[in-house]
Amino acid sequence: MKSGWVDSEAQAAIDRYARDGISRDLALRVYTTRLIGRDPKLVLHGGGNTSVKTTMADLLGEEVAVLCVKGSGSDMAAVEPAGLPAVRLDRLRKLRARAALADEELVRIQRASLLEPAAPNPSVEILLHAFLPHKFIDHTHANAILSIVDQPDGEAICAGLYDGRVSIVPYVMPGFALAKRAADIYEAKPDVEGLILHKHGIFTFGESAREAYERMIALVTLAEERLQKNRKAVFVTAQLPQAIAPLDAVAPILRGACSRKDDKIEGAWRHMILDFRASPAILNFVNGADLARYSQAGVVTPDHTIRTKNWPLVTVAPERERMDDFKRAAQAAVTDFGERYQAYFARHNARAGGIKRALDPLPRVALVPGLGLFGLGRSKEDAKIAADLAQCAVEIITDAEAIGRFESISEAEMFDMEYWPLEQAKLGTAAEKPLAGEIAVITGGGGTIGAATAKAFAAAGAEVALLDCDERAAANAAKAIGTAALAVKCDVTDAASVGEAFARVVAAFGGVDIVVSNAGAAWQGRIGEVDEDVLRKSFELNFYGHQRVAQAAVKIMLAQGTGGCLLFNVSKQAVNPGPNFGPYGLPKAATLFLVRQYAVDYGADGIRANAVNADRVRSGLLTDTFIAERSKARGVSEKDYLSGNLLGREVTADDVAQAFLHQALELKTTGDVTTVDGGNIAAALR
Ligand SMILES: [Zn+2]
Repeated sequence: MKSGWVDSEAQAAIDRYARDGISRDLALRVYTTRLIGRDPKLVLHGGGNTSVKTTMADLLGEEVAVLCVKGSGSDMAAVEPAGLPAVRLDRLRKLRARAALADEELVRIQRASLLEPAAPNPSVEILLHAFLPHKFIDHTHANAILSIVDQPDGEAICAGLYDGRVSIVPYVMPGFALAKRAADIYEAKPDVEGLILHKHGIFTFGESAREAYERMIALVTLAEERLQKNRKAVFVTAQLPQAIAPLDAVAPILRGACSRKDDKIEGAWRHMILDFRASPAILNFVNGADLARYSQAGVVTPDHTIRTKNWPLVTVAPERERMDDFKRAAQAAVTDFGERYQAYFARHNARAGGIKRALDPLPRVALVPGLGLFGLGRSKEDAKIAADLAQCAVEIITDAEAIGRFESISEAEMFDMEYWPLEQAKLGTAAEKPLAGEIAVITGGGGTIGAATAKAFAAAGAEVALLDCDERAAANAAKAIGTAALAVKCDVTDAASVGEAFARVVAAFGGVDIVVSNAGAAWQGRIGEVDEDVLRKSFELNFYGHQRVAQAAVKIMLAQGTGGCLLFNVSKQAVNPGPNFGPYGLPKAATLFLVRQYAVDYGADGIRANAVNADRVRSGLLTDTFIAERSKARGVSEKDYLSGNLLGREVTADDVAQAFLHQALELKTTGDVTTVDGGNIAAALR
């Protein structure tokens, strides 16, 4: 591991922040915090923290001694000065005299001691930073350190390796007790460069930002070098089936097995989003004959518990052609996982006085021999975090096993961490959106109505995939929504293209819950004279396109076994033909019937099928030229054409999007057609 310190960059940080009135101390603190944060072998996702002791003017302009410490759960790679809230140091230090300190009291004292009342909550490890005397302190959960300390004889290995350069702190849960213990151990040997926290991580310190940081790099490098010596080969591979099923066949089954019925709303499910990883290191790990032992041994550092739970779900290897067996085994594995989790909770909640409320008993990491690993979460972002931490655990455990035997903290210690209110607070308490955990696919996603629909579904909490034959249009619409939105090239007139697009959606999110089959285009012609080719082309897109998309989606929905929702952009043409518009209206009429057929055939599977009949929405289909032509065909002005309805209001793409969203949320409605046309009694369905 190399130091990332560059004098000119450090100076640039000082100069840049000076313009905002930020001190040199804090500027350098931000600089090296980011250096640490950008290396995933040192910290990941809010793990680790840093601090600086300096002086700062309070709101009254009086200079006070403060500890600027990273905010709880925030990301070090992108930290700004405001992400290192300043806390009055003298108050924190006074706490060391106490025999005990309740979490709630610590939080209140912390908040009351912040210089800026609106600042984020400081790190849960704040007191450890406060009780040590050094100006700069860095703390990481570096992979190499964990591989060495997560061993039965981890303390002895460290003692030999560091030869007095560090002191070793036995495992104590983060918080007040650990802070006191670490400070006592430091004071017994005040010339050390850092502290190694058994089964947790490492602290280094110094009088300058550079010294603390470079001590971190040096000590972690020693651990990395140690891991390269006297390695034994790991792991011995298990006997696996010849043909492993592909990701797009496995993920929906796994996702279905990890979903739970909402016990409050009939027909509703609580789904997880999946994030898949495979690499030679991951496959070596999940294919190991001894996987059941080393994968279930516990977390690599206590901070991972809230994101990954204490142990991952392990399934059997999925054999192609035998997916029914895999489905049964996966469901049984999830049931066992839940029972084990509930028993674990009951055991330790009794010890804690019965005051804790059980979290959901679903896995956050799944290991699939032959295939790879999945992170699971209620959003793509959470699933990604779980997968990142799981991938990191794979590396740490592999290295630990290569030099000895991986050992975690005890189950009771993991429970205390998982149910520590200050840890849970890192996950936030924002109310979930109505479509959280749902995956929505929108065809024609690059068009006006498709883009508006994708935006509305994303705003309601769904993960969205925008499919379009115009890849750039889909990508632009996805970009406007946010980082998690997926753009996929898809031609709905080509079965192979539809199959590939859905496989990509499944690979990205794990399955499909909602499809908005929206892709379409209009052809005109007087029906008695129109070329048959035109009619066939229109059927290919405006009927078969919907059928191909619905069929691909239903296959995935049945594999999940958790129902689903098919939504179709039909058109009022399906019930109210316009002059010379047969080539468009005829396939749309067939699609209206298609909706009802899906409602009939898949109602028992919990799959709903509904349609929106929109009319005269300005879009890629209803272009300005087209509006001119259609208004002429109807013999009215363009303005009257667009708002020529009972309400006299122009219908927009957002109106259509809201109708689709409404249908997605109506769990007791199937076979419905919702009109979004401003009122057209000739197009009324009954
Ligand atoms: Zn830590």
